[in-house]
Amino acid sequence: MSTPIPPDQADLMQPWALTVDRALTHAARWHGDRAVVSRLADGSLSRTNYAEIERRARRCSAALLAAGIGQGDRIATLAMNHANHVTAWFGIMGIGAVCHTVNPRLFDEQLVYIINHAADRWLMADVQFAPLVERLLPQCPTLERVVYFCGEADCPTTHPAVAFDTLLAAASGPVVWGDFDEHSPAALCYTSGTTGHPKGVLYTHRSQMLHTLIIQSRDAVALSAVDTVLSIVPMFHVNAWGIPFAAATSGARLVLPGARLDGASVYELIEQERVTVSAGVPSVWQLLLEYLAKHQLRLSAMRRVIIGGSACPESLIRGFQDDHGVDVIQAWGMTEMSPIGTMGAPTERIAAADAATRLRYTAKQGRVLFGVDLQITDDDGAVLAHDGHMPGHIQVKGPAVIRRYYGDDKDAVGADGFFDSGDIGTIDVDGYMEITDRAKDLIKSGGEWISSVEIENLAVGHPAVQLAAVIAIPHVRWRERPLLVIQLKEGKTASPKELLTFLEGKIARWWMPDAVVFVEHMPLGATGKLDKKTLRVQFAEFTAD
Ligand code: AMP
Repeated sequence: MSTPIPPDQADLMQPWALTVDRALTHAARWHGDRAVVSRLADGSLSRTNYAEIERRARRCSAALLAAGIGQGDRIATLAMNHANHVTAWFGIMGIGAVCHTVNPRLFDEQLVYIINHAADRWLMADVQFAPLVERLLPQCPTLERVVYFCGEADCPTTHPAVAFDTLLAAASGPVVWGDFDEHSPAALCYTSGTTGHPKGVLYTHRSQMLHTLIIQSRDAVALSAVDTVLSIVPMFHVNAWGIPFAAATSGARLVLPGARLDGASVYELIEQERVTVSAGVPSVWQLLLEYLAKHQLRLSAMRRVIIGGSACPESLIRGFQDDHGVDVIQAWGMTEMSPIGTMGAPTERIAAADAATRLRYTAKQGRVLFGVDLQITDDDGAVLAHDGHMPGHIQVKGPAVIRRYYGDDKDAVGADGFFDSGDIGTIDVDGYMEITDRAKDLIKSGGEWISSVEIENLAVGHPAVQLAAVIAIPHVRWRERPLLVIQLKEGKTASPKELLTFLEGKIARWWMPDAVVFVEHMPLGATGKLDKKTLRVQFAEFTAD
């Protein structure tokens, strides 16, 4: 006969809510003097440490509380990577307010949309974005206050604003962090959709902390107290892939590059600060390797680089591994996944394989981490085998994966609870996932999204255009660039130049297709939709001049 555990004996472990403030309080208490180094706008370096960041973050919280900001209120940040931004993150999230990181590279209309959609109450920005803030302010009625990450003397005066330093100096009083349900919202990040407006992903404290623990496993980001980590990935891109949290929980020194991501600046920072591990998108690493090759320089302290956000070419892997002895680990994920899902650390079999095999596997998107469920399915939803050949829709599930977009009334997951990533790929017998295609109609150029659908809709507005398709073509530096494929109306003519001129001013300059090509008949699928798969194969080798 079973003897049930009495209810008062069933839960005998301590309640310890997984709230993000714990990462910083841990760092301040146990690694308080570990440095956090920031590159400032003028190029100089500024140094602080976790203890000081915690003190200032509490002052930031006090200032927010004094102004009536409370749990769930959204505070936007429009800033590059630096210690004040980290301070604001924790100051905001510690009291249960929501840190909405805004990507300054979006267009004004997108920024206005997301700030209004989030109903942000404050905006904390870098001084360099003052002209942008000035344009946004009249269109964002929910914004009550602008704070600039600077001292009093540098604070812009063309619109009402307060300097971060002044705000913190005036703040006082005890601040309690945490002390709320771990399922409370902590951070908000918008991601571009194929069509329509960007969508908000609202992370909870629990999802952020579980993501931190997930990526801290040995085969993943795995920062340690002997590491110095350089977060190239911007803090406005999905929690900087969780690096500030992982650095704080592990006591890694944290180096933040500000806005300077050119080869010379990144090299100088890596060498000067003896960076051991870094993370960022391929285009930044491409610039660094080009700079190193040109000046015959070597990386002396760096051991590991995590490359993700776009596929990592083999040339980049070879450049790091062969020329600099730096291990490359590819990461795949997305905003909806907090973001990391798979990472490419080798299994025992791959580690023991020959160099060519290891290279081939490093170029795959990696193995799923504990804490993420991964499956591939066919078009009808049937789960496919892990044979490394049959590609399917890559779907994920987990405690740091989205269930529903912010403000939506419908779940973003299927009946089985899996979220469809919009990526297409295979999984092999060793568990390595490899992306082979993308179902979502977007192009990722230098880590930022370009909507093919938006360009197509504009292009068909030209009187000579019958059908327009925009597909990604490979590019050495930016990984992908848009190619505009046109089927002209019968009897009409138009030159590539004419079509590009037609788009000018309607889209951002960096969205401009690299080339325009004409086809007699646009390939169409069974339902009459543009068959981009065929186009991608047709123009796989295409390079723009
Ligand atoms: P984002 O939400 O902006 O982080 O973009 C996520 C998307 O970027 C994924 O769905 C993929 O399409 C792409 N992506 C991210 N990491 C990789 C990678 N390692 N290789 C190829 N594509 C990637």
